[in-house]
Amino acid sequence: EERMRRGLPTKRKISGVKHVIAVASGKGGVGKSTLAVNLALAIASFRQSVGILDADIFGPSIPRLMNLKGEPKIHEGDNFLIPLINFGIKTMSMGFLVEEDSPIVMKALQQLLHQVYWDAIDFLVIDMPPGTGDTQLTISQQVILDGVVIVSTPQDIALIDARKGTNMFKKVDVPILGMVQNMSLFVCPNCQHKTHIFGKDGVIKTSQEMGIDYLGDIPLDANICELSDVGKPIVVTKPDSFNSECYKEIAKKVM
Ligand code: ADP
Repeated sequence: EERMRRGLPTKRKISGVKHVIAVASGKGGVGKSTLAVNLALAIASFRQSVGILDADIFGPSIPRLMNLKGEPKIHEGDNFLIPLINFGIKTMSMGFLVEEDSPIVMKALQQLLHQVYWDAIDFLVIDMPPGTGDTQLTISQQVILDGVVIVSTPQDIALIDARKGTNMFKKVDVPILGMVQNMSLFVCPNCQHKTHIFGKDGVIKTSQEMGIDYLGDIPLDANICELSDVGKPIVVTKPDSFNSECYKEIAKKVM
């Protein structure tokens, strides 16, 4: 009602989903999709039913990260798209629907938001596109998000854009769940020496300055990268590793 009074579009619930968490970043390449996948798996490890919606429509990487490909089947009756499943996670991606540069991309976004047969899941994790473009705005204004997690590396250049992203979500009344710092700490696999390659606490400081929660840190680890590349996310492949614990700690805070 408050939004209607202010002349803003009304938001709808995504059908079949209890809670929706978006994962966003100011820049590409900071680990957003990797976080989205491992966060979804971490939430699922707490006995929740979970889905992932890949809304990174111009560069969908969820199919590769989840080791999924193919065309979704159509649910009888409502013609909704049926998600593909791996590791117990229902997954829907633009990558399953159209060629990346196709002009029907924006139409497909509507389908992804409103016509997926999630069929009663507890959590949906949305992998947003990087930055503050039209897609992010469309999603924020059309569907009810429980909140957004902003991921950044601790470099100034990434943090500047992470701030912009955070401010955009605030403007469209999306609750900010907090910030995740990715790839700050590197532990040498040979000598265990710890290095903060891109700085130590950039994201911690930024979240403090912006008055939002700091959700935790994911170290820079070749394991995460290698396993991602072959579609075996670390949270399912090495569930007891330190890195997996990091993702689970973040999951606990956003659930
Ligand atoms: P984005 O979605 O922000 O573009 P990705 O999740 O695709 O970023 O990650 C970019 C690259 O960095 C990928 O090769 C990924 O495997 C790697 N990566 C992400 N997080 C980590 C990490 N904590 N340690 C090592 N590599 C990582």
